[in-house]
Amino acid sequence: MAKLRKCSFCGRSENEVGLLITGLEGCICEECAEQAHNIVVENQVHRPQPTALSNLPKPKDIKDYLDKYVIGQESAKIALSVAVYNHYKRLNHPGAEDDVEIEKSNIIMVGSTGTGKTLLARTIAKMLLVPFAIVDATVLTEAGYVGEDVESLLARLLQAADGDVAQAERGIVFIDEIDKIARKGDNPSITRDVSGEGVQQGLLKLLEGSIVNVPPQGGRKHPEQQFIQVNTRNILFICGGAFDGIEKRIAQRLNTHVVGFDAARNVAKIDKSNMMQYIAPMDLKSFGLIPEIIGRLPILTHLEPLDRHALRSILTEPKNSIVKQYIKMFEIDGVELTFEDEVLDYVVDKAIEFNLGARGLRSLIETIMMEPMFEVPSTGVKQYVVTLDFARKKVESANMAVLKESTEDK
Ligand code: ADP
Repeated sequence: MAKLRKCSFCGRSENEVGLLITGLEGCICEECAEQAHNIVVENQVHRPQPTALSNLPKPKDIKDYLDKYVIGQESAKIALSVAVYNHYKRLNHPGAEDDVEIEKSNIIMVGSTGTGKTLLARTIAKMLLVPFAIVDATVLTEAGYVGEDVESLLARLLQAADGDVAQAERGIVFIDEIDKIARKGDNPSITRDVSGEGVQQGLLKLLEGSIVNVPPQGGRKHPEQQFIQVNTRNILFICGGAFDGIEKRIAQRLNTHVVGFDAARNVAKIDKSNMMQYIAPMDLKSFGLIPEIIGRLPILTHLEPLDRHALRSILTEPKNSIVKQYIKMFEIDGVELTFEDEVLDYVVDKAIEFNLGARGLRSLIETIMMEPMFEVPSTGVKQYVVTLDFARKKVESANMAVLKESTEDK
């Protein structure tokens, strides 16, 4: 008697099932085929569907949105808007048919602390159509040392994607304080550099695009932990860093380049008050980023230092500016709050005088508003005006050293 054929999936023999389809190496019964079909359909539903190009926010739309929250920083905004738009395009057009594969353009933003790098990242996150994670490079160390492995970046992205690997693989990661993993000395091999070059090497793997084993909860890896594999090929990386002291390196480079014929004319053109605008990849290299990392961050953009005019605008213009937030808080109590214009100018003056930057604006306003915030709700007044005299008294009695520290911690 001929041997009965069996379904390779459920193991039932041909007389137990309806239809049995025979393949090269095995068979599948009617029921298993149907189940397999359902699995395929279900996966298609969950797989990210390409969005029509006409529905994607255009670079100008993205920038308009950023303009509502972030003052100035035109070049960084344009670079970010274009990168995010191109990222969407790449995801929707993998380039299979004509072999023209659009490569991703990771970005690096360089600008002094408190000029809006993280704010830009947070703002863009609010309007993105893909998962987004912000991570701080300072917590990263080389695998095996105390701290987090670079793979933990992807664990955050996975969290942002609710564990959906396919979505995370289309996401964007913002790595803050990338300058903190610069190589510590010029000689790369004197001692182990666990939070510097070692981390850069680890990061390089992610930037280049590879399949990475990600520990599900992030943090440290344990041998018995189950890994999730994430392909970083399509993940867009945006890096930000203050690169303290890089202006000097830029100045040195510019000076050494303008010797000889034509030198005088070129020097005259350099705007010494804002050296950051001349930043070039070689400055990042001399700061301690390895050339391979720099090569994987092809878009280099800078943030401008915030001048008096910008600081004044930051107080009132952004959609959720600090002044608007206080007005709203009082409004909830039925109190109409106003600031005399001179108060706002005074706050800007103090922020500049004590070198507090944009973060200092908030600390200064908080110092001024502490007493009214405490008193006003119990008084039943319907209007409250913050005068220059009052603001001056509050700021003068505050301990500026403490105020300065509180702006540095954030
Ligand atoms: P960075 O990441 O460059 O150190 P942040 O983005 O954290 O600086 O900025 C700190 C705070 O200062 C922000 O939360 C915001 O309130 C304010 N700020 C800084 N730059 C700007 C800007 N260009 N426009 C509006 N607010 C700004």
